Amino acid sequence: MKDAYTLLGLEPGVPPKDIKRAFRRLAMQWHPDRNPDPAALEHFKALRAAYEHVLAHSEIATSDEEATPQPPTPARDSTARGADRHQDLTLTIEEAWLGCEKSVRVAHESTCPTCDGGGTEKLAHTQLCKDCHGSGRIRVTDGHGLHRCKTCEGRGYRTQRTCTACEGSGRVQAWRTLAVKIPPGLLTGDELRVAGAGESSTLPDGDNGDLRLRVRLAEHALYRLEGRDLRMSRPISALRMLAGGDIEVPLPAGPLTLTIFAGAAAPRELRIEAAGFPAGRGQAAGALVVELHPVMPEGCNTRQQRLLAELDAELSANASRHYPTLAAWEADWLSSRPPARD
Ligand SMILES: [Zn+2]
Ligand SMILES: [Zn+2]
Repeated sequence: MKDAYTLLGLEPGVPPKDIKRAFRRLAMQWHPDRNPDPAALEHFKALRAAYEHVLAHSEIATSDEEATPQPPTPARDSTARGADRHQDLTLTIEEAWLGCEKSVRVAHESTCPTCDGGGTEKLAHTQLCKDCHGSGRIRVTDGHGLHRCKTCEGRGYRTQRTCTACEGSGRVQAWRTLAVKIPPGLLTGDELRVAGAGESSTLPDGDNGDLRLRVRLAEHALYRLEGRDLRMSRPISALRMLAGGDIEVPLPAGPLTLTIFAGAAAPRELRIEAAGFPAGRGQAAGALVVELHPVMPEGCNTRQQRLLAELDAELSANASRHYPTLAAWEADWLSSRPPARD
């Protein structure tokens, strides 16, 4: 019999795992079921004998244990900070005006607990590699000869497989809720940065990225923003516009009382500087613009009708001043009597 080590193509003193690997590879090649060579059976028997001999003389205890390959350690780099995470944040105008605390749901990637981030899990039992059927070699269809099996890295068997929990990425997605303090005065397009709430670093002790929230203000049934100017429409009693007086307008911080000076009962705008959307991001507070829409009274009772008639009579007595349009019309069409007919 040839030297057992030579038959297996091994240097004396190699560890048992190398002996097994070499035998598995050769046994698959020379197995008489696979190899039509008439000498295959004899050679296969010789290989098996050599294998048993070498293994028996190996001083190292046989074991299926193999060192679990560790994921490559990234080079230490001070810039290996986690990525920033971008997310939209919708606020009502009230929330943006006053500031608030918002619960923000953030997708959060973390190290896979199943594989500890390695992307592989150890198998309870060593498995024959399905791709190379244990030979550690793959016969490529177009080329010649055998190539090292990539699945098992030439071992012919596997002691680990791709982690099923993270599909090998080593990272799993989870959700977490952050309480984010929103300062007053943020507008659509502003960005709020929550330091350290972004992606975690690929390094165990690397800094997290930031969470960057892009603010978007929701449509409002009453308020409209033009920059920091806040506009709203408000119906107002036509009589109040004529007589003057106070009206209230609702603002996020509470109602604001505005004084209306006596004037025409016609639609107009009231503009109050610095009473609009609050200052923020280096910009001054905007103006409050109230669009007044006069409405006439309805459903007057007898007493109210009498009061109105009394007022109307008094105003009509000086029609050129109080009803100039009416006075002009009446002067044109009612002051001269039509020619009398015969
Ligand atoms: Zn995993
Ligand atoms: Zn394989």
